[in-house]
Amino acid sequence: MRLQDWMILRLYIRQILLILFSILVQFMANNLVETGKANAMVAIIATGIAPMFYWASIGLMAWSVLWVFHSTWRLWKWEQGDSNEPCCHICGGLVDMKNGRYGLYYKCLACGKTSSL
Ligand SMILES: [Zn+2]
Repeated sequence: MRLQDWMILRLYIRQILLILFSILVQFMANNLVETGKANAMVAIIATGIAPMFYWASIGLMAWSVLWVFHSTWRLWKWEQGDSNEPCCHICGGLVDMKNGRYGLYYKCLACGKTSSL
C-alpha cells in the first residue's frame, strides 16, 4: 500500500468502526424486542430499553456520518494544498494530535512518524 492509502485508511477506520458499532447496537435492540415477544418479563425490560438502544444507534450513526464529512473535508483541503492544519515533517501527510506520556504530539496518518508540539 502507498502512504496515501494508509493515510486514508487511518483517517476513516474509526468512523467505519463506529458505524459497525451502531449497527451492532441496532441489532441488539431488535434482538431485545424479539426476545420480549417470547418472554413476558423480558418484554417489560425490552419496552424500556429498546427505544434507548434505537436512539443510541441513530445517534452513533449520525455522529459517524458527520465525522466522515469532517474527515473528507480535511482530506480534500490537504489534497488541494489549502489546509491550515499542521503536516508531517517527513512526508507531508495529514497528522492527528494525540496525548501521550510526554504530553501532546502529532502522529502522521500516512507514515506513522511522531513529532512533539
Ligand atoms: Zn508522515
